[in-house]
Amino acid sequence: SPPTVHNFGAGPSVLPRSVLQTAQAEFLNFADSGMSVLELSHRSEAFDRVMRDTERSARQLLAIPDDYSVLFLQGGASTQFAAVWYNLMASKVVRDRSGTGQTLPPVDYLITGTWSKRAAQEASRLGAPVNVVFDASTDETTGQAFTGIPARNRWQFSGPSGRDAAYVYYCDNETVHGVEWDHVPEVHPDTVLVCDMSSNIMSRPVDVRRFGVILAGAQKNMGPAGVTMVIVRNDLLTRTEPASYPAFPTMLDYLVAQANRSLYNTPPTFTIYLCGLVYQWIKDQGGVVAMAQQNEAKLALLRQVLAHSSLYRSPIDPRYQSRMNVVINLTKPELEGPFLQQAQARHMVQLKGHRSIGGIRVSLYNALPLTSVQALVRFMTDFEHQVA
Ligand code: PMP
Repeated sequence: SPPTVHNFGAGPSVLPRSVLQTAQAEFLNFADSGMSVLELSHRSEAFDRVMRDTERSARQLLAIPDDYSVLFLQGGASTQFAAVWYNLMASKVVRDRSGTGQTLPPVDYLITGTWSKRAAQEASRLGAPVNVVFDASTDETTGQAFTGIPARNRWQFSGPSGRDAAYVYYCDNETVHGVEWDHVPEVHPDTVLVCDMSSNIMSRPVDVRRFGVILAGAQKNMGPAGVTMVIVRNDLLTRTEPASYPAFPTMLDYLVAQANRSLYNTPPTFTIYLCGLVYQWIKDQGGVVAMAQQNEAKLALLRQVLAHSSLYRSPIDPRYQSRMNVVINLTKPELEGPFLQQAQARHMVQLKGHRSIGGIRVSLYNALPLTSVQALVRFMTDFEHQVA
């Protein structure tokens, strides 16, 4: 049998072993249908049950209120960067704030790393008047890019009372830079808060009521690549007459997705099925509270090594240290290659930092077992001794 691999990849990433085993056991004969899930019609009763169970589990895990819709969409989280803008432009709430519907209201972006930056760029590209509330691309003290969140008194929301934006957008966990919010940013109660939770969804409890829209790609904490979950407050799906907003593609329209229960066209059936199994696994573990505890325990092990090391450095403000993606720089960068090679030889894989920033990145998603982190910290300690 193959060796136990410790997969620290940032996504697609490790999945719970037992989920893969269930999928394997059901692969050729799903729910006594005599068919694989892969072969079921998305209009079949069997798949309808999958869809309903998956949504119900997601609702339970995140305590999603009834006046929110849960959508399963395609095109990755990147497609949602555009969809968010179109949909919120079309919503009545936005029209009311922009008066005639002739001038586009500003949209506010909090920029903490690659993914929130990309989202802002996408909105700009579509013609949105993007206001950057802050851009943490250079830390004034360290000069390093995206290492934390600037003090509140340096934020600039749109409008004199900070309420003019159609929505305020941020990314809860920046997967590339390893910066995670430790709180939900306060915004004016009249604005709509939009959050990208792709890489930390279901890793801790969240108060969904604070948000107008939550979006999250599946391929980190929820399942394989291929689906993006969007949680949207139903009143934001209320429309004015089409003339007051730009037309946009049907496939990006949350209202169409909601009216068709994410079955307007063929959904990624296998991915949704697998997400459902992962949700069940999280429930069996004790839900997102248990996930948060396990994730804290994993991070604590790594933090301990970092605290006692002269080789490993986290560039991140400890307060905003991501619990999901820990970026580590070696004080002797020439040792990065040997570090990764030796890790690989011990079956510790996907530790290389994102191609845009280099370094080492340890992803600690829900499904990563504590034993993998224990193995890694042993190796890190050995390696440091060896090169000292
Ligand atoms: N947001 C975050 C926080 C991400 O980590 C990623 C992917 N790594 C994306 C958005 C983009 O997701 P996708 O590749 O599914 O478009």
